[in-house]
Amino acid sequence: MLALEAIAPGGQAGSSSRIENYLGFPLGISGQDLAGRAFVQAEKFGAQIAVARRATAIKCDSRPFPIECDGDEPVRGQAIVIACGAAYRKLQVSCRLRTSRDSKGRPYTMEPRQWRRSSAKAKT
Ligand SMILES: Cc1cc2nc3c(=O)[nH]c(=O)nc-3n(C[C@H](O)[C@H](O)[C@H](O)COP(=O)(O)OP(=O)(O)OC[C@H]3O[C@@H](n4cnc5c(N)ncnc54)[C@H](O)[C@@H]3O)c2cc1C
Repeated sequence: MLALEAIAPGGQAGSSSRIENYLGFPLGISGQDLAGRAFVQAEKFGAQIAVARRATAIKCDSRPFPIECDGDEPVRGQAIVIACGAAYRKLQVSCRLRTSRDSKGRPYTMEPRQWRRSSAKAKT
């Protein structure tokens, strides 16, 4: 079994400071620690993990299927599971967004117009 990982093991979970709802960790665990443990466990069961290796194309007309990887030699697989997750787009704004709390203490993100008004209020 070969896993191709474009960036680093852990995916989105790897960037979480604390994961509280993963089975077996009642006190929570950091995403980095969870990813590290998963990596060791996968290798123990014989998985090979190619880090910083992005799959760019799969050709489905021959078997085993050739998978092209970022300029490297293609690898081949009899069966392929694609689990490429999600990558979040960042808001293309030049200013920083600030957070505040509403009257019930719930956090929300202020638009630049709102935080300019609230800092003007704080100065008076
Ligand atoms: C900050 C943060 C905190 C979170 N906290 C929690 C939590 O506490 N509890 C919870 O249940 N969920 C949490 N989540 C959500 C959870 O992490 C995701 O639901 C989960 O990681 C999704 O897993 P996945 O394997 O589907 O995708 P991903 O985690 O996105 O992993 C996909 C992987 O595929 C790789 N990849 C993509 N394209 C290619 C390619 N072409 N070639 C090779 N590799 C590729 C990516 O680099 C990535 O490593 C959190 C998410 C974030 C961002």
